[in-house]
Amino acid sequence: MVFRQAKWEEPIIYELGAPGRIGFLVPEVEEDIKKEVGELKVPEKVARTSPPELPELSEVEVVRHFVDLSQMAYGIDNGPVPLGSCTMKYNPKIAFEIANDPRVMWLHPLQDERTVQGLLEALYMLQKWLANIVGCDVCTLHPAAGAHGELTGTLTIRKYHEVKGQLDKKTEIIIPDSAHGTNPASAAMAGFKVVEIKSAPDGNVDMDALRAAVSEHTAGLMLTNPSTLGLFEEHILEIAEEIHKVDGLLYYDGANLNGIMGYARPGDMGFDIAHINIHKTFGSPHGGGGPGAGPVCVKDRIVDPERNIKLSDLLPGPIVMYDEKEDRYYLKWPGPYSIGMLKAFFGNVVPLLWGFTYILGLGPQGIKEVTEQAVINTNYFTKLLKGTRGYDLPYGPERFRKHEVVFSAEPMAHEVDVTAEDVAKGLLDAGFYAPTIYFPLIVHEALMIEFTDTETKENLERYAARMKEIAEIAYKNPKEPKTWPKNTAKGRIDTAKASHPRHVTPTWRVYRLRKEGKLGALK
Ligand SMILES: *Cc1c(COP(=O)(O)O)cnc(C)c1O
Repeated sequence: MVFRQAKWEEPIIYELGAPGRIGFLVPEVEEDIKKEVGELKVPEKVARTSPPELPELSEVEVVRHFVDLSQMAYGIDNGPVPLGSCTMKYNPKIAFEIANDPRVMWLHPLQDERTVQGLLEALYMLQKWLANIVGCDVCTLHPAAGAHGELTGTLTIRKYHEVKGQLDKKTEIIIPDSAHGTNPASAAMAGFKVVEIKSAPDGNVDMDALRAAVSEHTAGLMLTNPSTLGLFEEHILEIAEEIHKVDGLLYYDGANLNGIMGYARPGDMGFDIAHINIHKTFGSPHGGGGPGAGPVCVKDRIVDPERNIKLSDLLPGPIVMYDEKEDRYYLKWPGPYSIGMLKAFFGNVVPLLWGFTYILGLGPQGIKEVTEQAVINTNYFTKLLKGTRGYDLPYGPERFRKHEVVFSAEPMAHEVDVTAEDVAKGLLDAGFYAPTIYFPLIVHEALMIEFTDTETKENLERYAARMKEIAEIAYKNPKEPKTWPKNTAKGRIDTAKASHPRHVTPTWRVYRLRKEGKLGALK
């Protein structure tokens, strides 16, 4: 299959159209309505004196502009996106249909509870299902992403020790070195000191390092299982015991839930608090597809028996409740021990509904099959690539992987200076999306590959074949990979500059600078 991406020399939108050109004209407000609602009077002080600087285009020009741009982009609807850790699965379109239903779309968060019973029922069911999947008791749908869930979790851990009057001594959170960067960031934002522990050569937590790190200062531990190496943490029960012994709490980073759901539950492993990335595990898209959702679930353990405070009392709200007698759903707002609200209203309802539809569509057996398929895909791919000259499989190479596998391009980088980044460009050139590279940090030249449950066998084979071909080219002609990608809309860019722009120039300013001759024309 030959891949060629469109290369439009697409002007920015300000350079298209002409003054006075319009797509759709909103009719004038009729006189009698004007009389009824009155004229809108903007105080002179804040009224603008010139119209906003907006492009003027016909509808067809707008459509063509964005279609052209979309042809220069690549997404899950084009082909596989095996970005490890991100769990980029295909998102069933039915979920979007449901959330786009006018009966859902036109609801307002300030509407009376009695008028949104259907939506509240869906959210209530979602809370129940998620709690069941992670083995917890109570969930809040409030947080907007995984990292936001982590902050909710670390603030909850903080509140737990505060309520118990031991916060002055509980100052540390333990995190393995394979963790996602958001874990230490969230712990630090909640005011904790981060204590990092090493991974053992088999990919498990080094238990001696853990025991050495645990002390009376341990407030909790954050861990994802399976780990970012795609490996199940075999010591999890012992780890939980060590942390609970000193009255620490265990936080489950649920980003990797796709590798175990339906088969094992964090709640049964000893975790007290867990977040779930709806936009990873439960069929809602990332980024461009809209905001995410990071519900947080807890085991409802007693925090203070005298005041009858439970862990769920510390969570942010609102939480959807059901009054059986009245057969009515209602919102429970945060009480006196809650960490407070971290977001407006009920959280990001649209991705939550996508997740609701996804789980409803799969059912309990389907959820298990998703896990099975994701794990089979990972291990089949691993088998195809393992042993290829140029790539290495560090950390328990003989162990089965769960949802993802992390290869290393270190041999190739060392021998012929073809790096993980070059491999990624070579994949782009063949019409694939690159894997996650240079993460986790404990693997040099990391290629972190996660096909998820939705990728086909043929695509796994094509991907592995291309990675083998890249290695062959690297050893034969190590200069060639440095010229990739050639078939994509844009060639190789300066990634350091692209990922750390000093400032972002808005398109209208680019337009003005170009008009004033201060910027070169489109190349
Ligand atoms: C994605 C991810 C996070 C953060 O989740 P967001 O929803 O992106 O904020 C945390 N941990 C791991 C392992 C992840 O892959």
